[in-house]
Order: sequence, then structure tokens, then C-alpha cells
Amino acid sequence: MSLIELLQTVPTAFIVMCLILGLMVGSFLNVVIHRLPKMMELAWQQQCAESNDEASLMHTDGKHVPHPRYNLIVPRSSCPHCGHPISASENIPLVSYLLLRGKCKGCGAAISPRYPVIEAISGILCAFAAFHFGFGWAASGAMLLIWALLALTAIDLDTQLLPDNITLPLLWTGLLFNMFGVFTDLHSAVPGAVTGYLTLWSVYWIFKLATGKEGMGYGDFKLLAALGAWLGWQMLPLIILLSSLVGAIVGITMIVAFKHGRNIPIPFGPYLAGGGLIALFWGQALTHEYLQLLSAR
Ligand SMILES: [Zn+2]
Repeated sequence: MSLIELLQTVPTAFIVMCLILGLMVGSFLNVVIHRLPKMMELAWQQQCAESNDEASLMHTDGKHVPHPRYNLIVPRSSCPHCGHPISASENIPLVSYLLLRGKCKGCGAAISPRYPVIEAISGILCAFAAFHFGFGWAASGAMLLIWALLALTAIDLDTQLLPDNITLPLLWTGLLFNMFGVFTDLHSAVPGAVTGYLTLWSVYWIFKLATGKEGMGYGDFKLLAALGAWLGWQMLPLIILLSSLVGAIVGITMIVAFKHGRNIPIPFGPYLAGGGLIALFWGQALTHEYLQLLSAR
């Protein structure tokens, strides 16, 4: 029996494989979450420096000062406290954290629990996608969507940014999957992308004209456009409803319980991502129930 046949015929084997894959990719997502915002900042600084100092650079040899390379691969991961390089055996998702008891091997400084948490969430959601969709394209698409949403959520919480480097490829990938009708047909996916963008864009402008404040960012429009491309325009009301509901509950709790200033922006991306995930797994069932409720009246 080949591996593919095994995964196809034994659901448990497929679920376990997706769990392990989810844990491993979760470990890489930690790198993306940590480094992508810094890479964007470095790129902006470089652009500013280039446009400001073009004249002054000409005076010094006419050469640019080389920046140390910084991307998702280079430099190797190391402890932020002592610089101890993290070896392969210290980099096994979840297992290493437990074996090291959450401490750096070099200096004993605590490792943020956030790393194993992201790995675990990625692993569990991927295993659930394998269980929910079974062997096939839908499960692999769902895992891609899960990884992107997880990275976007963490980056938005950290920096209030939803990088184009993730939201735009996510949108195109959704359209590609639906060319083959994996989650919905192209006639639902394309208007889904357009309507998703325009809905939040309109909310943004109405809110801005009414209050003079910016309620959300352009990244939010692109994220909802991507979710529309993956799940179709029919899912947009549900996603907006779910994310506003959870967003309102969390927002009010923050203001009341923690005296979180009303003017401090609360990122909307994580709620959109959460609403998108619920719609991915239960959207069809939820809208079906809702329509039945309406017609029963
Ligand atoms: Zn250390």
C-alpha cells in the first residue's frame, strides 16, 4: 500500500499526518510572525534612507553601506537573551519546549509560551481540517487558509498591521482553488472578493466622515476580500456578523474591565480571521439553519 493510498483509506492516518504537518508549519509561522514586521520596517527604513540620502551617499565613495541579511531564513534563530543558537533538537515543535521546560539551554531565560501555543493551535486546527474535510484538496486548502489567518492574527495583535505579503497571495490562492470549485464556484468567489473589499471600505469611509476617526485599516478590507474569494460572497454577512459580535464583546470587556482607553484602536483582523474560520467549517450549515428559521416564520 502506498502512502497516498494509506492516507486515502485510513482517516486516522491522514488526521495524524495533518497534525504533525500543522505543528511543523506552526513552528515556521512563529518565525514569520516575529520577522515579517521587522523585515517590512527594515525595507521602509532603507527606502527612506535611499530617498533622503541620495545626495550625501554620493559624497561617501558612492557606495551603499551593506545591511546584514535579515529574512525568513537568515540569520539562524537564537535566544534573544544570550544569543545561544537554537539547534535542530531544540527546535522540535512542542516537544522541545516541554523537554527544555520552557527555558533556554544556554542561559536559562524563560522562552515565551506563545511559541508552543501557536504550534499547538496550528496542529489542532490542521487535524480538525483533516477530520472535517477528509483526504483531498479541500483539506489542503483549509490548512493554507488556517496558516495565513493564524499568522495575520498574531501580527495584527503585535503591530496592528495585516501585511500585503500575506493578504494578497491569500486572495489569489482562494480564487485558484475555486477555479476548481473546491469551496465554492468562481461566480461566488470573484464577487466575494470584490464585495468583501468594498463592504469594509464603505464602512471605513462612513465612519471616517461621521466621526473623523479611522475605525480600521486597509489591511482589514483586503483580508475580508480574501475570505470572500475563498468562501464566496454568500458567507460575507455571516463573517461580518460573527466578527462584529465577538469584537464588540471583547472591546466592551476591555473598556469596562481593564479601563482600556476607548480611543486606543483594537485590531479587527483577529475577529475577521475567527469569523472566517467558523464560516470555513460551519458556514454552510449556519446559513442553512438561518434561512430555515426565516422561512419557518
Ligand atoms: Zn539564552
